[in-house]
Amino acid sequence: MLDVVPAFSRIGDENAFAVLARATELQRQGREIVNLGIGQPDFKTAPHIVEAAVKALRDGEHGYTPAAGIAPLREAVAADLHRRYGVEVSPDLVLIVPGGKVTMHMAILMFGAPGVDILYPDPGFPIYRSMIEFAGARPVPIPMREENDFAFSAEETLSLLTPQTRLIILNSPANPTGGVTPREEIDRLVAGLARFPDVAILSDEIYGQMTYDNHRHQTLLAYPEIRDRLILLDGWSKTYAMTGWRLGFSVWPQPLYDAARKLAVNSYSCVNAAAQFAGLAALTGPQDAVQAMVAEFDARRRIVVDGLNALPGVNAATPKGAFYAFPNIAKTGWKAKALAGALLEEAGVATIGGPDFGVFGEGYVRLSYANSRPNIARALARIGDFLRAHAPPA
Ligand code: PLP
Repeated sequence: MLDVVPAFSRIGDENAFAVLARATELQRQGREIVNLGIGQPDFKTAPHIVEAAVKALRDGEHGYTPAAGIAPLREAVAADLHRRYGVEVSPDLVLIVPGGKVTMHMAILMFGAPGVDILYPDPGFPIYRSMIEFAGARPVPIPMREENDFAFSAEETLSLLTPQTRLIILNSPANPTGGVTPREEIDRLVAGLARFPDVAILSDEIYGQMTYDNHRHQTLLAYPEIRDRLILLDGWSKTYAMTGWRLGFSVWPQPLYDAARKLAVNSYSCVNAAAQFAGLAALTGPQDAVQAMVAEFDARRRIVVDGLNALPGVNAATPKGAFYAFPNIAKTGWKAKALAGALLEEAGVATIGGPDFGVFGEGYVRLSYANSRPNIARALARIGDFLRAHAPPA
């Protein structure tokens, strides 16, 4: 009998991957599925980025790189953060990692232990809670409420901090809700955190370049008073349509940087060298593909929201960022996961039930609008037909 340590009975999963596997299986069986489940851009990585990786391979970049990433890439990340936010970041505090997820893994491992509270958004990216439980810490959900436009409430967030809290996880623009926390609210949150100097902050800003209308992303890097305890999570996956390249970066406070670098050395050594050269081309090359993609998401966002609000029992708030709609489906009478399951199996539309993002996700489903306009129209028509034809199970 092979017994892994008890922590593995607590580790969670990301149901979006299970839905993707099921949708692919149904397609293999000949079903035509519209996939609004998985959260990745439907765009290809821009050709100049792909070429940079090909060139790196042709030039013989086949070996290990420094564990923290190649120096030009860390410098390019620092320059990019300066260009985007006007903030000074030392390249020596930038760590290149294989995907955005790795930063949350490292940060939660650094602070999570029995007796520790870690605050995280709910509904939110499922790996936060999974990793908190794996580490043996107590997960404390910060409710992301529709009536608060799915933004963080500084007051409610601060009220959840205890003497045991060691880490607070923030995410704006947010998955799965598309919420964007306004600057004034982040100002209030940061001001309140002054009373909790021992609490580290992990700010997941992977959708930072995807906001719409007049909603602006406010980076936590802009607050010098918390820079000594701020971990920034960002990366290439969403902005540059590079989810499969596995490339992300983090910015660490000086005292934590070496611990993060050692975790890298102890698990994956360094990020794939060619991917790092691709990431360099992405940051230093033209940004028009990013702008075009975000403009297209913006147009689709309006189509999705209008279409959802025309469906019986469905109420969709307008997302302010990322590429997800998170409609309230409570008035359909369906439980969210049952509806998502039936939509996939019977209507051929992949979505994710809100409870896959936490207990506060009941009553909602997530639809990724990173899919073509015809596919979005097809999905909306199918969901409408399904809701009109099927009463919820008793
Ligand atoms: N953070 C959030 C909020 C996400 O939605 C995702 C991916 O869906 C990630 C992090 C992880 O990104 P990556 O694919 O780069 O690991």
